[in-house]
Amino acid sequence: MMLPKPINRKLSLSEWLVFLMIAFAAILSFWALPTIAVSDGLLHVYFLNVGQGDAELIDFNGKQILIDGGPDSKILQELGRVMPFYDHSIDLVVLTHPHADHVTGLVEVLKRYEVEQIVENYTPYNTAEYAEWNKAKSSVATIQAQAGQTIDLGDGAALTVLYPADPKSDDEEFLKNPHDGMVVLRLDYGDDGVLFMGDAEAKTEYKLLDGSASLSAQFLKIGHHGSKTSTMDNFLKAVNPVLAFIGVGAKNRYGHPHPTVLERLENYGIKYYRTDIDGAVELILDGQNYKIVN
Ligand SMILES: [Zn+2]
Repeated sequence: MMLPKPINRKLSLSEWLVFLMIAFAAILSFWALPTIAVSDGLLHVYFLNVGQGDAELIDFNGKQILIDGGPDSKILQELGRVMPFYDHSIDLVVLTHPHADHVTGLVEVLKRYEVEQIVENYTPYNTAEYAEWNKAKSSVATIQAQAGQTIDLGDGAALTVLYPADPKSDDEEFLKNPHDGMVVLRLDYGDDGVLFMGDAEAKTEYKLLDGSASLSAQFLKIGHHGSKTSTMDNFLKAVNPVLAFIGVGAKNRYGHPHPTVLERLENYGIKYYRTDIDGAVELILDGQNYKIVN
């Protein structure tokens, strides 16, 4: 009978090589662990609590997209709370329009995070905050937003620009009211859809209704902090959301959100979250179902 080979024999050169390769792979996978830990295959949308302003963070497979930054540095605390501590980069920042309650926090974000790309509807708008933004972003690749552009987030998720139809950089009307040249976005993942309206008002809603883009979406970031100049009845009917989200500061001087808009939502049985009462809200999507963490 043949005896089995002794197991404590010396390793051959090729066996040593295999051993080293396995050890190296183990070390690599250890370093890769934090990335794996956050890539849960779920799409997270955070409606951040930045007071009277707007900021939403999309986190998918360890990549982040930030839409607006609120009125001040509070965005940094909010990002610190929801982003992994070791992650100091944001893949894409979208500025919906140059008003202070959307852009000022983004200037702070550009100082603290490595931002890879920016999408905005550029305008020669003349305010101190917007001038700061232009200075801070000078070294970041910036894309002029235009309806139809799609950003592929991988694994079936995509972000699409629905508005502006044409770049509006020297449109006098847009300069008068930046809400009429808003970057409106649609996020799709499987059967789930989220509309980010920024501060879009009725005029933009009607243009979207006249256009060919699909508006139906289960989730709606309400336009202009729930102001009565946004979220028209026809628009709400076309979107037909299950849930709505309102970025708004407690006891703000504008009276946002307007009771008419809240009544409209209630009439259609649409549940809503508002950051002044509910704080930051996390929407988790798997392509079919959703979960709210609040
Ligand atoms: Zn605005």
